[in-house]
Amino acid sequence: MFVRCFKPNLRESVLFFHRFKSTLVIVEHDNQKLVPITLNTITAASKLGEVSCLVAGTKCTKVVEEVKKVNGVKKVLLADNDVFKGFLPEALTPLIIATQKQFNFTHILVGASSLGKSLIPRVAAKMDVAPISEIIGIKDKDTFVRTIYAGNAVLTLKSRDPVKLITVRGTAFEAAAMGGSASSENAPSVDVKNTLSEFISQQLSKSDRPELTSARVVISGGRGMKNGENFKLLYDLADKMNAAVGASRAAVDAGFVPNDMQIGQTGKIVAPDLYIAVGISGAIQHLAGMKDSKVIVAINKDPEAPIFQVADFGLVQDLFKAVPEMTALVSKK
Ligand SMILES: Cc1cc2nc3c(=O)[nH]c(=O)nc-3n(C[C@H](O)[C@H](O)[C@H](O)COP(=O)(O)OP(=O)(O)OC[C@H]3O[C@@H](n4cnc5c(N)ncnc54)[C@H](O)[C@@H]3O)c2cc1C
Repeated sequence: MFVRCFKPNLRESVLFFHRFKSTLVIVEHDNQKLVPITLNTITAASKLGEVSCLVAGTKCTKVVEEVKKVNGVKKVLLADNDVFKGFLPEALTPLIIATQKQFNFTHILVGASSLGKSLIPRVAAKMDVAPISEIIGIKDKDTFVRTIYAGNAVLTLKSRDPVKLITVRGTAFEAAAMGGSASSENAPSVDVKNTLSEFISQQLSKSDRPELTSARVVISGGRGMKNGENFKLLYDLADKMNAAVGASRAAVDAGFVPNDMQIGQTGKIVAPDLYIAVGISGAIQHLAGMKDSKVIVAINKDPEAPIFQVADFGLVQDLFKAVPEMTALVSKK
């Protein structure tokens, strides 16, 4: 009697391995272009296996063309439908679940932005798996690194869930470069009926300055700025340095500036080449959002301010004297 054993050849093994570890990145975009954190997410996803991307939106084919050119992307899936207006988690979740079912993705990643933070917990709950939030490292296909306690401790976790649902901290991974040539096809067609939420409108702050989370230079003001008008000092300096302007939560809570400028544990996470903290004391919740910056400069009139403990360069001076002087010096160049 002959017994036929299944012994995959090398090609079959490689195919199986790839299928087993295929990864889906949810693309964040505004229907015109992708949001930079997606490029960092693609880099993270590349560490896990073959990368496909899902572009869900309304009249968003331009985004598909852009994503196809990102290095490391194999396939782009498009779901173009009015129901995805506003990118509501309630509408996107059934699509993501159907896409996962059809392609057997083992990992689903999205940037840890407002979109990712609202979407992943919902998808995870529907799939009955645990979401893995804001990873900063990948050890292997099951093991991920993230910070806890406002960045004061680093946790390595192993997930045994069959599908890993992950948000990625953009600043922890390089942005994927352009130069790829992925294929594209339609995502599974799903009859999405979102009766739970409705997109009404959105108001986005417009600025000619670089976007906070991807800017190479960030200048942030704190309670020491005293009021919103004084932030003009920072805008003037920022415009000379092609910098983005951020703020501490105290400055936001006091109404000096809008809350999309907040940096920290409950705001945005940034890691620019240069971070200039002006009139900011350096509370741990603020440091959680900027301490990975490559060079940190602090301007504070209090020599004991904790921000000086993380600063590479510190200037103990009144900001109302220091900042205009800096602007004048930079203008001379
Ligand atoms: C759960 C939780 C989450 C939080 N999340 C965040 C967050 O995401 N981001 C965040 O920033 N904070 C956050 N906070 C708040 C945080 O604890 C601090 O209260 C806040 O960061 C303080 O902001 P600040 O440094 O601007 O103000 P302050 O601590 O009041 O510091 C102002 C600084 O300005 C200096 N100063 C004043 N005048 C001048 C001058 N003329 N020239 C030079 N220096 C001057 C002072 O010496 C002082 O050091 C959070 C808190 C909690 C509890």
